[in-house]
Amino acid sequence: MAIDSPLQSRMASPTTSEKDVKALKFIEEMTRNPDSIQEKVLGEILSRNSNTEYLKRFDLNGAVDRKTFKSKVPVVMYENLKKEIQRISEGDRSPILCSHPINEFLTSSGTSSGERKLMPTIEEDIHRRQLLGSLVMPVMNLYVPGLDKGKGLYFLFVKSESKTSGGLPARPALTSYYKSDHFKTSDSENVYTSPKEAILCSDSSQSMYAQMLCGLLLRHEVLRLGVVFPSCLLRAISFLQNNWKELAQDISTGILSSKIFDPAVKNRMSKIFTKPDQELAEFLIGVCSQENWEGIITKIWPNTKYLDVIITGAMAQYIPMLEYYSGGLPIASTIYASSESYFGINLNPMCKPSEVSYTIMPNMAYFEFLPHNHDGDGALDETSLVELADVEVGKEYELVITTYAGLYRYRVGDILCVTGFYNSAPQFKFIRRENVLLSIESDKTDEADLQKAVENASRLLAEQGTRVIEYTSYAETKTIPGHYVIYWELLGRGQSNALPSDEVMAKCCLEMEESLNSVYRQSRVSDKSIGPLEIRVVKNGTFDELMDYAISRGSSINQYKVPRCVSLTPILELLDSRVVSAHFSPLLPHWSFGHQNDVIR
Ligand code: AMP
Repeated sequence: MAIDSPLQSRMASPTTSEKDVKALKFIEEMTRNPDSIQEKVLGEILSRNSNTEYLKRFDLNGAVDRKTFKSKVPVVMYENLKKEIQRISEGDRSPILCSHPINEFLTSSGTSSGERKLMPTIEEDIHRRQLLGSLVMPVMNLYVPGLDKGKGLYFLFVKSESKTSGGLPARPALTSYYKSDHFKTSDSENVYTSPKEAILCSDSSQSMYAQMLCGLLLRHEVLRLGVVFPSCLLRAISFLQNNWKELAQDISTGILSSKIFDPAVKNRMSKIFTKPDQELAEFLIGVCSQENWEGIITKIWPNTKYLDVIITGAMAQYIPMLEYYSGGLPIASTIYASSESYFGINLNPMCKPSEVSYTIMPNMAYFEFLPHNHDGDGALDETSLVELADVEVGKEYELVITTYAGLYRYRVGDILCVTGFYNSAPQFKFIRRENVLLSIESDKTDEADLQKAVENASRLLAEQGTRVIEYTSYAETKTIPGHYVIYWELLGRGQSNALPSDEVMAKCCLEMEESLNSVYRQSRVSDKSIGPLEIRVVKNGTFDELMDYAISRGSSINQYKVPRCVSLTPILELLDSRVVSAHFSPLLPHWSFGHQNDVIR
C-alpha cells in the first residue's frame, strides 16, 4: 500500500482549491477499501433490480451477495442479450433488464453482426459518468499548476444519432452528454475556448471552423489542447493546413467567413468575433505558410503545457505524429471509459505513454476479472473470475461488469494488465481490445470482419480467374485521415499471371468497404475520419518471404500463421518493397444510421 502517494503529498499544498481537495479526498476514499465499496455496489444493483425478468430467471430469491450472484448468474456477451435489448428498443417498458426505465441507448463502437451495439442507460447514469469525469482535472492540477489561469482548446463534436422504433434515442455517450441540460447549463466556456453552439453544430466543417477560429483568437490563453481520439487532432491540423488563408482573412477583416451559416453558430460567433486583429492575421500567415509544420501546435499556442488525448491501446499508433506536430509536448491519457460504463482515471497523468495505468473507481459498477489465458482454448471457466481487490500484479484479465442499468456479468472485451496498486485499488494498463485488428478512430474491425470483406471483394476477381492467395492489413495513420491498407497476393489464370485492371481493383476496394461494419462506414461517410481503403498488390512469393522472416525470428514453422494485421516496421518495409500496384476505393460506401432496428438485426 502506498503510504504517502504523490496524490496525498500534493494534496496538502495550500494552492489546491477546496473543490479539488474534495475530489481528491473522494479518490482516497474510493481507493482505500474498494472491496467493501464493490460489495455495496453489487448489493444495490441486485436489490433494486431483483424484480427484473432477467434476474428472476436465475432464482436469486432476493440474495444480493457476491457468492450467490456468481454461482447463479452466467457470464454473457452482447449476443446473449440481443433479444432483451431488441424488446427494450421496440418500446417494451416492463422491467426486462433494469427496474429503472431505460431512457436511452448509448451506441458503442463495438459491433455485433456488423452493427453498433446498443448499451442501455438510465437517467442517473449521467451523474456517475460526470462524477468520474470531474475527478480528472483535480488530479491534473496537482501535476500541472496554473491550468485555471487559462483555457483548454478542445475540438469536440456531436455525432449522428437516431431513435429506436420504441422512441429511445441511440447515440454515442459524449453526444448524449453535449446534448444534455448538464452541458448546456454548464460553465464550459470559462474553461474551454469552444462555444457550445459550435460543439453542438452537427455540420462538422462549420463546427471545426468555428472552434479553430476561437482557438486562434485566444491563442495565448490556451494552456492545454485536447480531443477524444488522436485522429481528431490530426484532422484539426489538416483542417488548418487547408483553411488558414481563409481564417487569416477573417481575422484581418473581422468578418466571419460565409462558410459559417448555421444560425446558432453565426449568432454566437458575432458576439465573440467582434473586431479585426491584423497582428494575429499576419502571425498566422507567417507560421502557416512555412513548409515545415513540425511543432506547429506550440508555435501557434505557445503556452500549451500538454495534449489531452487517449494514446493507449490501438491509439498508441498516433504517438509519433502527435509528437511531431506538438514538438514533443507531454501527452496525458486521462480516462478509461466505455458506453457500458465509465471505468477509471489515470492518477499519474503526466507519465510516459508506455506507463499509463488507470485506477478503476469501485463506485462505477461491479467489476470482475476473467484471467486471460494466452494459450487457452477459449473455453470459459465461470468460477475463475476474480474480484477487483483480488487481482494480481503482472497478470492479464478481461474486464467483466455488472451495471446499474442492467448488464450482468457482461464481458467488455478489454484485456487489462495489473501494474500495481494505489492505496488498495488496483491499477491497470490497457493491453488491447480482444480481437480487434484495425482501428483508425472509433472503428473496430476484427478478424472475421476483415475475412468477410476480403471474401466478398475477391469474388469480383473470380470472373477473371484471379484469386487472392494471401492477405494482411495495416492501419495507415500517417495520412490524414488515416485509412486501411490491405496487402493482397494474387494468383492469376495461366502462366502470365496478369493482374486485374485498376478499374476492377478499385471496385474490390469499394466492395471491401461495403462489407465492413457500420461504424467503419459511418466514419468514412458521415464523420469523414477514415480515408478511402487501399489495396496494395504484392509480388508473388511475398507472403513466403514474410514467413521466412518470422521463422528467422524464432517462429515455429509448424505453427506459423499469416498475421492478418501487421505493424512492425521491418515487416511493413518488406511488404512495401514488394508492391506492384496500389488501388484506392473510388467512392464512399453506403451508410445511413437508419432505423435502430437495423442496428440490432
Ligand atoms: P465505446 O463503447 O465505443 O465508447 O468504446 C469503449 C472502448 O474503447 C473500451 O472498451 C476500450 O476498448 C476503448 N477505450 C476506452 N478508453 C480507453 C483508453 N483510455 N485506452 C484504451 N482504450 C480505451
